[in-house]
This record gives sequence, C-alpha cells and structure tokens, in this order.
Amino acid sequence: MEFLSKRAKGIVPYTAGEQLNDKRYVKLNTNENPYPPSPEAEHVLRSFDAARLRLYPAPNADGLRETLARIEGVSPENIFCGNGSDEVLALCFPAFFDTDGAGACFADVTYSFYEVFARFFGVPFLTVPLKEKFYLDLSAMKEAKCGGYFIANPNAPTGVGIALEDAEAFIESVPDKIVIMDEAYMDFFGQSCAPLTKKYPNLLVVKTFSKSYSLAGMRCGYAVGNQSLISGLFRMKDCFNSYPVDALCQAVCTAAAEDRDYHEKTVELVVKERERLRGELLALGFVVPESKANFLFASHPSRGGGEIYSRLKDEGVLVRHWEKPFLRDFCRITVGTPEQDDILVQKLKKILS
Ligand code: PMP
Repeated sequence: MEFLSKRAKGIVPYTAGEQLNDKRYVKLNTNENPYPPSPEAEHVLRSFDAARLRLYPAPNADGLRETLARIEGVSPENIFCGNGSDEVLALCFPAFFDTDGAGACFADVTYSFYEVFARFFGVPFLTVPLKEKFYLDLSAMKEAKCGGYFIANPNAPTGVGIALEDAEAFIESVPDKIVIMDEAYMDFFGQSCAPLTKKYPNLLVVKTFSKSYSLAGMRCGYAVGNQSLISGLFRMKDCFNSYPVDALCQAVCTAAAEDRDYHEKTVELVVKERERLRGELLALGFVVPESKANFLFASHPSRGGGEIYSRLKDEGVLVRHWEKPFLRDFCRITVGTPEQDDILVQKLKKILS
C-alpha cells in the first residue's frame, strides 16, 4: 500500500454494475442489449484469421473510421475510435481541459464516470442540479463559469432526453466552450447531434458499440467532431496507448456498423419493449419518467429502491441501485426481452403484494 501515489490513494474509483455469475440471473443492471450482435458481426468473429493477431492492429482503426464516417455523413478525419466510449470520454479531459483552467461542467445527476475522470486528470469541475422532472437545467449550465460541458443525452441514470432543437440552441449559445455530447443511448432516441458537428466547431459527439450494437464485450466507442477536436484526441491517445482498438474488435465493429438493417431492427424491438415495460411498471404504482434510452428509472411510493433491488436479487433478477441521496429511492432497470421483463414484472408483483 505504501507504494501507492497520493492520487491513487485518494481517488474514489467508478463502481461498475455487478457482473455476477454465482447463479443465472435475469440481468437487467448494466444496460446491455438483450439481443445478440448482428449475424454479420458474428460471421466476421468466427472466420477471423488468428494469424492476424501476430501483428499490431491499425493504430487509428482506419477501416472502421471509414465505415463510421459514411454512416455519420462525415469524413474519416472527423472520427476517433477508442477502447469503449469510456476511454474516448476519458481522453477528452486532458485533450480539452487544463488543470488550472475554467474546468468542466456537468449535471449533478448524470453518468458518474465524468467526476471520476475529472479527479483522475486533475481537471476542476462543477455540477448543476437537475430541474423538476429530472430535466437538465440547460439555462443554468449556460451561465456556469466553466470551459466546457459533458452532457449525457439521453441522460443516465434517468433516461430523460434533450430534444435536438434544444441541444442545438444550447451548443449555439456557448460558442467558446466545448460541448461533449455523450450519446451512448442516443440510438434509442433518434435525435443525434452528430450531423451538427459540421456546423459547430465546439461540438464533439461520443457514441458506443456497447448498447444499440449489442457489443459491450468488444469495447469500442467513437467520437464525431471537427478535425481539430479529433486531432486533439489522437494526440492524447498517442501519449497513452497507440493501439486502443484491437484487430478483432475493429473487424467485428465494422461488420456490425455496416449491418444497418439489423441495427435498426434491434433498436426498434428495444424501444417498443421499453414502452410496454414502462406501462407495466406504471400499472404497479411505480413512478417512471419517460425514458429515451434502453432503461427505465423507477421508484415506488411504498418501497425503497434498496429494498426492491435486494428482493429482486434474491429472486434472481439484477437491477441497478445506488445508495446516494438523490438516487436511493430508485432502481435503474435495463429493458430486456419481453420474456425477461415478464419475469421482472412477476417478481415485482410478488414483492409488492
Ligand atoms: N456513457 C454513458 C452515459 C454510459 O452509461 C456508459 C456505460 N456505462 C458509457 C458512456 C460507457 O460505455 P462504453 O465504455 O461501454 O462505451
């Protein structure tokens, strides 16, 4: 322990959701997609030539960037790929914020990794409370004294989304500050700011293969932005890890990204099921804000979030709960298949009876 630096000793790391295998759970706790990845991606995975692994992968994931550029309607120079969107978000801190600068701003209730990254990179930060009904307070954020923003849209863990026109008005209103839009769940909302990166040099959009592409286990995320922002991320990558996206990952993600029909079909299934599950939870008396993501944020007037979480766990259903002031009444429930969700609802009925 005495070998640890002060920073390593002092920092509170991000707590990832449980990945338990003590028994078979209905796993609705880490916003994974309940459907398998694209068959095209699976085919590439199965036919991958292991001899290729002798060599280092393309350091900048050029093939994958070309495919993503086509999908996003930009040039490959406007795309950066990393080892999960977490890594892309992490690199944004040293790329765009100084340790003695104006700092980063984000909501008080949002993806908790932003705060961990800020502390890890020594970047000052401030948080802005959510408004009523869990909406982001964009006008308060606009006035905040900061150098830039991290905005999860849809937000986690609430699932609340910002409409495209409101997002654009905000980006336009802060031309001297960078806006990093974390669109990990955007495919379930369909109002991406990515096309706006051509219009606003202060906008960087970050996306992932973990959710809508069902590839959380592959670890790939990417950023879309103007060339100067993207080259900033490349500078940071090449100070840290030259090959963050492995060869197999590049091949599989390229195939998944190219299979537009499958992507659209699975997103549609999840969105349809999200609305059905929300209806079931409302009928059980839960309070559930309208979600634009692949999860629901639910509280019950007669039971604490912690109680629901642990009773569900005993019943073999995993959801996410945080023992924190604003969050403790709620559970975050990932939308599963209709069969998984039926089990959840049946267990909830038992717990509430
Ligand atoms: N952003 C948000 C808002 C998330 O919830 C997550 C998933 N925990 C991520 C980014 C990171 O996803 P990944 O690293 O798997 O791309």
